[in-house]
Amino acid sequence: MTDLTRLSAARLAELLAAGEASSVEATRAHLDRIAAVDGDVHAYLHVSDEVALATAADVDARRAAGEELHPLAGVPIAVKDVVVTKGTPSTAGSKILEGWIPPYDATLVEKIRAAGLPILGKTNMDEFAMGSSTEHSAYGNTHNPWDLERIPGGSGGGSAAAVAAFEAPLAIGTDTGGSIRQPGAVTGTVGVKPTYGGVSRYGLIAMASSLDQAGPVTRTVLDSALLHELIGGHDPRDSTSIPEPLPPIVAAAREGALGDLSGLRVGVVTQLQGEGYQAGVLARFHESLELLTKAGAEIVEVSCPSFEYALAAYYLIMPSEASSNLAKFDGMRFGLRVEPEEGPVTAERVMAATRGAGFGDEVKRRVILGTYALSAGYYDAYYGSAQKVRTLIQRDFDAAFAAADVLVSPTAPTTAFRFGEKLDDPLAMYLNDVATIPANLAGVPGISVPNGLATSDDGAALPTGFQILAPAKADDRLYRVGAALESALESSWGAPLLARAPELG
Ligand code: GLN
Repeated sequence: MTDLTRLSAARLAELLAAGEASSVEATRAHLDRIAAVDGDVHAYLHVSDEVALATAADVDARRAAGEELHPLAGVPIAVKDVVVTKGTPSTAGSKILEGWIPPYDATLVEKIRAAGLPILGKTNMDEFAMGSSTEHSAYGNTHNPWDLERIPGGSGGGSAAAVAAFEAPLAIGTDTGGSIRQPGAVTGTVGVKPTYGGVSRYGLIAMASSLDQAGPVTRTVLDSALLHELIGGHDPRDSTSIPEPLPPIVAAAREGALGDLSGLRVGVVTQLQGEGYQAGVLARFHESLELLTKAGAEIVEVSCPSFEYALAAYYLIMPSEASSNLAKFDGMRFGLRVEPEEGPVTAERVMAATRGAGFGDEVKRRVILGTYALSAGYYDAYYGSAQKVRTLIQRDFDAAFAAADVLVSPTAPTTAFRFGEKLDDPLAMYLNDVATIPANLAGVPGISVPNGLATSDDGAALPTGFQILAPAKADDRLYRVGAALESALESSWGAPLLARAPELG
């Protein structure tokens, strides 16, 4: 019998529609896989067996009754724990939200439930999405399925590892500076950050509201397009949601898979390669450029000089917004409440004791940084300057997109590193996102496509990612180019990259 956990979501959906498998069978197969391997991988913080199986049984019954269903109905999915799910714990990887059960669903979760996708559970992440390795989770590390001693990327390491380890065919991630794309790169999965405003943020536990964006984590480009189409679109409950229909992303993915990129101009960003990028990562990147040329694309070099300051601007804007967003965790409204050990129990002292106990070091570091950058006397020098740099970066993108239809770079400068390697050096950790952060600052969409294996500095063969960026609201271009590259790469390898990952369990 077919192993239902090994199929793409699109293929599984076909089997379900044809009556060759049921959603209960598919959901059980994934729950069994989670039971078999998640002890080693730790992708999940919470597994919702009963809820998932109930959804699956309901979809099977509706299908049997001849009801018209969503194309992905019955295909199981995992959701990053920063997205609120009614009746299921949602901790954002933090102790401060331990035990909190949200009374409502995020808009994207409502859409997932309405379409009949069984939610397998909630995935591990860096606390409040702050990190690049998932080592900042308050609930332990997630392990990279390619090598259990290594990081799965972050902050959405749980979603990427779940999909890479065949513990879910689809997952939801969020990307503030790269948290969908960088985990995709280091686990050999596909990850998409849609255009800012393309997917509702209603019900996302906010880190930096002007940068946060939810998106798909999958094993194929087409699967990402199908999931993106399901969760995207205008939401009146999110004031920054784009009041327009999505571009034709599924059609673009199908067209791209045919492999013809004639007339397309691909811009290689000078500033997103070279120093700091591993030799193997760059070698795979240049090989893929050749494949795009063979598919008919024209490669041009574009310069985005302000990208050099993107990381610095991000680490002022993001902590500033985070310090304000996290002010609501005060020991009164949600989750944890800690009273001072001695002395009077005033609101302020409860707040201090709760935040002291409930937040991890990285969160505290960023709250302190953000409050400092926003304080009177420093606001103009730090936050104000960072906002000006943000405008310059947007202008660089405008100029680059006048010369090229899409921009490309390696997704992450290195392959997956070992646990602990960058934990004591926040700057080294932050540098993982040099190539992904500019897109968040400008609001433009990006995809990471599995780009083959490279030899790490310590001699292991590990996944790399190819990043494609498009102008705002032109997400369809990501899928066209991503699917073309994916099909060229897979025919050169003879199989999907993940077929080469070691067996688990
Ligand atoms: N790694 C980046 C950070 O630590 C991005 C995180 C994210 O996209 N959520 O802020």
